[in-house]
Amino acid sequence: MAKPVVEKKYTLGERIYLLEILKGMVLTWKHFVFNFMASFRSGPHTVPTTWQYPEDRREISPIFRGEHMQTLDDQGREKCIGCGMCAKICPAQCISIVKAKVPEDQQELYAGKTYSSSFNIDLLRCIFCGFCEEVCPTNAIVLGQGYELAEYRREGCQRDKARLIENFRLARESGKLKPQRKPVIVAEPKAKPAPEGGAQKDPGVQKVEQAKPKKAAAAKETT
Ligand code: SF4
Ligand code: SF4
Repeated sequence: MAKPVVEKKYTLGERIYLLEILKGMVLTWKHFVFNFMASFRSGPHTVPTTWQYPEDRREISPIFRGEHMQTLDDQGREKCIGCGMCAKICPAQCISIVKAKVPEDQQELYAGKTYSSSFNIDLLRCIFCGFCEEVCPTNAIVLGQGYELAEYRREGCQRDKARLIENFRLARESGKLKPQRKPVIVAEPKAKPAPEGGAQKDPGVQKVEQAKPKKAAAAKETT
């Protein structure tokens, strides 16, 4: 259905236009002066004007997913056990790990019995999804608040273990560590009580034995 055209009745002032142009200019100048004066204020702006980055920096949310870091425990030991779960789940396949057993004379450096002798993240491929952080059983890998990741060369976008640990140290010193997520606890399988009058049978064997009487009953019904 066609929309009916409503003819607007203009006042004399509107028909002259000059007054309307002046009203528009007053509004424009009001905003201009307001924002111009705001740009001289020091510190982060509290008015809706352009942030003067990099001098002004917005506060980053504590759950922001930025540049990765590898955390250390309270005793300064590496928490990564080199399990490779982060590399396995990474949709961009940008994590590469080499797992190794902790040498006898270096036990004080690592929290686990194994560690990652090599750990690398290719930030050019990373999509900052946070899956690696979610899946890590020891909270060893965390996505921090670093977002200035531009580099002139591709090699600059590689993050090795030393750099990841350095990221953690810097974040800890500047008080920008995320609240710790509860580590994933894998539930122990419940032990079945031993049957009365004998040792516990293998569950696989039990299944076969339980199936037998049913089969026999079915055969009886058909005959
Ligand atoms: S960072 Fe976490 S998930 Fe990745 S290898 Fe180390 S312990 Fe495993
Ligand atoms: S944030 Fe996502 S894409 Fe980046 S390394 Fe972790 S799992 Fe891979």
